[in-house]
Amino acid sequence: MPEKKYSEIIEKAIRNVSDFPKPGIQFKDITPVLQNPQLLKTMVEWFVSTIDKNVTGIAGIESRGFILGTVVAHELNLGFTPIRKKGKLPYKTYREDYALEYGTDSLEIHQDAYEAGDKVAIIDDLLATGGTADASIRLVQKSGAEVVSVHFLIELDFLQGRKKLEKHSHTKAFSLIHY
Ligand code: AMP
Repeated sequence: MPEKKYSEIIEKAIRNVSDFPKPGIQFKDITPVLQNPQLLKTMVEWFVSTIDKNVTGIAGIESRGFILGTVVAHELNLGFTPIRKKGKLPYKTYREDYALEYGTDSLEIHQDAYEAGDKVAIIDDLLATGGTADASIRLVQKSGAEVVSVHFLIELDFLQGRKKLEKHSHTKAFSLIHY
């Protein structure tokens, strides 16, 4: 299916919720896409179509990246690795900090998730300022793997997250729907 067709079908189902989780934010709610069997299938098909054949593992960013990443990994006969907010993973972890509007937050990955030679695709629902994706790329690289690509259902172009990811020159960025 052409890329434009995927985005036309899915964009209609994305729900805009104003002032959530705080005033001034327009939250892009993908639950209507997840709830619809045909749209869920179409969305997974798009993610799969963007992932290089030489990828050896899928990582998903907490928490909607878990939902999307796991089904995509299953579809490609690959394993799935969660990238979680600090303090949630039980075993030994690597940690990367990233800037929020006020202060910083951290993401973690299990130290035994990947090894040198692994080629990873990272999945999340939305690219905004790019801080989360940037930290996730650094985290996977810390574990020894190469990040081949990052994949988002939605990109908020006006926040210029893609710019923040440019320094990872070997990592391609894919987004289906742009606002
Ligand atoms: P950022 O680090 O600024 O790129 O933010 C990306 C992360 O925040 C992703 O995990 C998104 O799920 C979430 N996020 C940021 N802005 C929105 C939004 N407007 N609607 C839904 N999720 C968002």
